[in-house]
Amino acid sequence: MASSYFALVVLLLYLVRTPFAEGAEWTYTGEHGVDQWAKDFPSYCSGQSQSPIDLEASQVTYDSDLQPFTFSNFDNTNGITWTLLNNGHAAQVSIGSGTMQVSGGSLGGTYQVAQFHFHWGSDSTKGSEHTVNGLAYPMELHIVCFNTKYGNIGDSLANPDALAVLGFFFEISSNTNPTMQKLLDGFPNIKYGGNQTSMTPFALTNMMAGSSRYFRYRGGLTTPTCNEIVTWTVFRDTIKISETQMNAFRMLLDTQNNEIVNNYRPVQPLNGRSIRASYDDENFASASGLVFNSLVLVSSYLVSCMCRF
Ligand SMILES: [Zn+2]
Repeated sequence: MASSYFALVVLLLYLVRTPFAEGAEWTYTGEHGVDQWAKDFPSYCSGQSQSPIDLEASQVTYDSDLQPFTFSNFDNTNGITWTLLNNGHAAQVSIGSGTMQVSGGSLGGTYQVAQFHFHWGSDSTKGSEHTVNGLAYPMELHIVCFNTKYGNIGDSLANPDALAVLGFFFEISSNTNPTMQKLLDGFPNIKYGGNQTSMTPFALTNMMAGSSRYFRYRGGLTTPTCNEIVTWTVFRDTIKISETQMNAFRMLLDTQNNEIVNNYRPVQPLNGRSIRASYDDENFASASGLVFNSLVLVSSYLVSCMCRF
């Protein structure tokens, strides 16, 4: 009797726990670290179109059809409230209202900025999520925008064209970045995981680097639940930041009072996806090269056929 009661309790515990298994806590290291996400969040984190990826030149094709972006109201901070937040995984600014929208850039729609956040390393040799030819940058900014045709970010999430994320790399400079400093001035108020504070908005364009040279591919969220709903844009031009300013990120603490560092997911397999670039580079794969290679293959096949006769 006792054993069947025990079995019932185990079964009930299992049934109670299972619905919450996905959406459970996650971390970058340890028991629920990045190498466990595919198991802990099997619906999406084990998918075939995951992010981030290595933007490796031989996998990139120049596409002259990739248009320039239009950033509407990125410098209009009227009536906008910003909340600076330590969410336990990263520093984030949530944009409560407003009309900062991005279109063009061959996004195929208008996307509204919902929040932006950062991924960074314990030192400046690492930290970015995407890499370029295997090389990481000290930090990466993600501006998360939802497709306005879905009304709000919550309603958008079930759709493959739900989000456009604009990614910018950072590079170390000897100069202080004055726009980043406006953000960092609030960091003493968000030292601990869960802390948040309001802050005075600034023009997002002041924080961004040049936007004409960019990579484009289809991927997903780089944190659980890893939904494959993101049109990714990763810009080639970098934002500059001083090492002192980088250190302010490294002093933020998570909910366990550990320093938030190396909060980046390792690069994921490309699995045949295309990476396109808005600009040309001699190291990129060439579309005409692919045609040429195909012609060579076809002709060599024809020659080999003819030789049999
Ligand atoms: Zn991110």
